[in-house]
Amino acid sequence: MGKILIIGAGGVGNVVAKKCAQVSEVFTEICLASRNIEKCNKIAAEIEKNMGRKIKIAQVDANKVPDLVKLINEFRPNLVINVALPYQDLTIMDACLRTGVNYLDTANYEPLDDVHFEYSWQWAYQEKFKKKGIMAVLGCGFDPGVSNVFCAYAQKHIYKEITNIDILDCNAGDHGYPFATNFNPEINIREVTQIVKYWENEKWIETPMILDSKSVHFSFDYPVVGPRESYLLYHEELESLVRNIIGLKRIRFWMTFSENYLTYLRVLHNVGMTRIDEVEFEGKKIVPIKFLKTLLPDPSLLGTNYTGKTVIGCIFDGITKNGKKKKIYIYNVCDHAKTYKEIQAQAISYTAGTPAMIGAMMMLKGIWKNTGVFNVEQLDPDAFMEALNKYGLPWQQIEFTGNLP
Ligand code: NDP
Repeated sequence: MGKILIIGAGGVGNVVAKKCAQVSEVFTEICLASRNIEKCNKIAAEIEKNMGRKIKIAQVDANKVPDLVKLINEFRPNLVINVALPYQDLTIMDACLRTGVNYLDTANYEPLDDVHFEYSWQWAYQEKFKKKGIMAVLGCGFDPGVSNVFCAYAQKHIYKEITNIDILDCNAGDHGYPFATNFNPEINIREVTQIVKYWENEKWIETPMILDSKSVHFSFDYPVVGPRESYLLYHEELESLVRNIIGLKRIRFWMTFSENYLTYLRVLHNVGMTRIDEVEFEGKKIVPIKFLKTLLPDPSLLGTNYTGKTVIGCIFDGITKNGKKKKIYIYNVCDHAKTYKEIQAQAISYTAGTPAMIGAMMMLKGIWKNTGVFNVEQLDPDAFMEALNKYGLPWQQIEFTGNLP
């Protein structure tokens, strides 16, 4: 049915390539391209060995639009899936515009020299994509991604008006390393060391970052894994959901962190190892966070001994379609060891990469068909929700009777 070009062969790229390879009736031809061809080679060899399918691979520097244009023109995909880093979003979108090819990613653009992410840079492509007759789907991982689909589903089928949304992201797994991040260390650390904000009554409210002794946190009793300390964090889907969920009064995002993780990160942050500016080291310029990344475990290789589960979902409060005030919790539970057994990936990469495959499937099948730039909650959630159950991320819907701060 369609040809896809996947850019980025890290933890998430590994999952996208393998999940797409499993669905050969939709993804008839796959090309995996990245900066380092060896990583593409390894993934392609595993796909051939375990699934008996050959995929193409290519080397590309996604910071260079002409190189991307050349690759796209050679392969002529129906869709480019960007699972490189947020720094490459705009160059890949530019290359899609020049070649007239659809685009999908899992994280919004972030400039390399500023710890700051927001959708404005990508939303600015709206008219250009429309004019070219192509579609961009932004943020189609788990969160953002499935969290937005859950919101669209709640808005379409359950609620007349959603007043409050709390997105809760819990990783109750153990990878066995003293300190590691579950996706790209540089992007992860930049995200969690920011000032926190949430949205209430038409405005953004700032609270201290998670490493601060005054950070906002509480113990939430997650399904299956039990109580975990959950920290208020700013996450990119809040920005689009505030625009697209009607009647919303408050939206917050919470993520679990262990005391161990916070202690390591606090030390690294306090000694300057998370700095993103250049420092002089023995006559050379180095960027501390990039140096730190080279020392930390590669998230795509964490899966080997990973045990435990992730629980990610949304709690909604509002007035249901039949006029009742009700809280509903929609969530997924994913098991690190199971995902490793299936495709040699830990659950964080799996929960991010599988929805990217499903989003790509929605686009190739024409279920999500439009021109312009879209966040996931602007698109119909039904077929996506069905596909989550079918392709490895089953979800539960329950009435929520617990407490939130
Ligand atoms: P990794 O660092 O493991 O992988 C990134 C890949 O992109 C690497 O293969 C890297 O190549 C490649 N890459 C980096 N720069 C370039 C470039 N200039 N040209 C070509 N390839 C390049 O990261 P993850 O797989 O953990 O994360 C990938 C993306 O997924 C990130 O944007 C992250 O924010 C997002 N994500 C989204 C989630 C969600 O739920 N929405 C959850 C988790 C992640 P090299 O090997 O040479 O470094």
